[in-house]
Amino acid sequence: MWHMHIVNDKTSQLYQQVMLDHNKTPRNYRVLDPADHEALGHNPLCGDKYKIFVNIDEHDVVTDVTFIGDGCAISKASASMMTSIIKGKHVDEIDKLFHQFHDMAQGKLDPDTDPNDLGRLKIFAGVRNLPARVKCATLPWHTLHAALQGKEKISTE
Ligand code: ZN
Repeated sequence: MWHMHIVNDKTSQLYQQVMLDHNKTPRNYRVLDPADHEALGHNPLCGDKYKIFVNIDEHDVVTDVTFIGDGCAISKASASMMTSIIKGKHVDEIDKLFHQFHDMAQGKLDPDTDPNDLGRLKIFAGVRNLPARVKCATLPWHTLHAALQGKEKISTE
């Protein structure tokens, strides 16, 4: 029960709101056809499974990114927010965000004190206190990374 651990401060309330909102109305939840890149990501620990589709223009800027699949509230909110944030960004910028997000989820980067470009993604800082959920939050990012690298499948195991 992930929500048992985070109670009663403002960040937690915002976190829960964002989780609910993105699960009720996931952004960019559709197949992208045709897609320049796509990859399937699987987190067997929790059962999260998502396919990410990406289109990139000649300047390596993401013109469209979508996802389908299913999983827990954290993984779905993460996929939804990731796709809405990276649209229009250059792949180098996305790579930087991927590493910062990963470090934040693992507790190696403090989004409030370490320099970062995470913006709204800071909401996921809470998973560093929930080790079992780190893979849920980072799965969409790993899958996107795999898609951009030309890999078709990844697993967090
Ligand atoms: Zn999960």
